Amino acid sequence: LLRSFPMTFASAGTGLVHDHRCPALRVRNLSRVFGERSVLVGVSFSVEAGETLAVTGPSGSGKSVLLKCLNRLIEPSGGTIEVFGTDSMHCDPVEIRRRVCLVGQVPVLFPGTVEENLAYPFSFQANRHCPRPDFGGVLEAVGLGRTYLAKDAQTLSGGEAQRVCIARALCLDPEVLLLDEPTSALDRASAGVVEETIRRLNAGGRTIVVVTHDLRQAETLGRRVMRMRDGRVEDIV
Ligand code: ADP
Ligand code: MG
Repeated sequence: LLRSFPMTFASAGTGLVHDHRCPALRVRNLSRVFGERSVLVGVSFSVEAGETLAVTGPSGSGKSVLLKCLNRLIEPSGGTIEVFGTDSMHCDPVEIRRRVCLVGQVPVLFPGTVEENLAYPFSFQANRHCPRPDFGGVLEAVGLGRTYLAKDAQTLSGGEAQRVCIARALCLDPEVLLLDEPTSALDRASAGVVEETIRRLNAGGRTIVVVTHDLRQAETLGRRVMRMRDGRVEDIV
């Protein structure tokens, strides 16, 4: 079921390196300054292929900015990020965003069916060459049946909507999936289902970085937990 859509990490025609001997992510000395404020300072860590790394830390400690730097929504002020051996800074940001997909805290779906939402990224010029997966298969991978394809996206529960957002990211077959507090906007029951989805994706070999406020969640989801404070890595255990 989890393998019912391709995980080939195809970078057709882009000439990008995908070196399996390298970590999925290697971050060295990453920094980001906003005006006078240093929001990330000397952040270094690696994520192995197939690992789930959980990131925690107080509000304002730089977790979201870190994820946005990892998929180039925010440009770092310094340091390096490698994705399977490719220097992210020397890549087209659009390409990096396909290889390293970010799913935000609040599920955002467009008016229309679930299928139309899953197909949306393929309408971007930059993704024209990307193979379209079997959308029903991707929905099954996040624990939703094929019957969801035709559903109106606006009628879904919070947990269902968040899983559709994760599915939409998975449709591009990213090498790394970034999840920013994926359950914080959800009720307890929906949060449990999304957590289970994350565990299943990781069991299927997906590399994941999940930011969470919830220490229990961090410990159950992550093989390692990275704690941040004031833009720095406090520890990784
Ligand atoms: P969190 O750990 O809660 O996710 P963030 O990464 O969102 O924290 O934010 C870290 C710090 O960076 C905060 O002080 C925030 O105000 C600041 N910050 C985030 N984005 C911007 C921005 N675009 N411009 C200026 N400051 C920002
Ligand atoms: Mg945040």
